[in-house]
Amino acid sequence: MSNARSRRSGITTIGVLAVALTGSAVGLADTADRAPKPRAKPQINEQMPPPAIVSKLLTIVPRRDWRAKPPLFDMQGHVPLSIMLHHTAGPVNTKRDIVFKMRSLQAYSQKPATLGNGRKRAAWADVPYHYYISADGAVAEGRDVRYSGDTNTDYDTTGHIQVVLEGNFEEIKPTGDQLAALETLVVELAKEWKLPATQIRTHKQVAATLCPGRNFMDIYPALQQRIAERLK
Ligand SMILES: [Zn+2]
Repeated sequence: MSNARSRRSGITTIGVLAVALTGSAVGLADTADRAPKPRAKPQINEQMPPPAIVSKLLTIVPRRDWRAKPPLFDMQGHVPLSIMLHHTAGPVNTKRDIVFKMRSLQAYSQKPATLGNGRKRAAWADVPYHYYISADGAVAEGRDVRYSGDTNTDYDTTGHIQVVLEGNFEEIKPTGDQLAALETLVVELAKEWKLPATQIRTHKQVAATLCPGRNFMDIYPALQQRIAERLK
């Protein structure tokens, strides 16, 4: 298994290896200091598109290009039924590129953390989001979209494609480049997974959180409308 895990960063091998990993009776999750997640029946199959390729209109930095580490333990397979929008709720870093940001996010995600409210969380297998859009409009592949994401809030992440935008939209507004990239990404994801515009949701619609921030919520109805037009 060690070879399989180390090879897992290669996009083309993810499908095969995902089956191998979820099919194993004993994984790292069984020995780690956390409650094991219920095992969903793996729903991975060869029909599902590689996650880094959603559009010819958009360049998405794949995991191998930001030198992603493999997930720490088995994740739960799911089929995307909606797209969930988030903000990072942190400051925009204009001095660093998206490779640095993804590597930092993964390092943070794969360690236990203490949250703002004092609650502690265990390490996640991988970054919690499936796609990351930085303030300059660059887009990166996060967690393999064929596995459900993670959250610090209380809702079931199963079936949601998690898309996060860099910034705290309680305080600032998303950039034009960021919104253009988001719109194209969401349109292409919606086409790929056959999702209607009504299935483009925001985090605060399903959980007690300010995410993705009031300045994003101000433009969300118009964004959803434009996406609905593009999906016609
Ligand atoms: Zn959120």
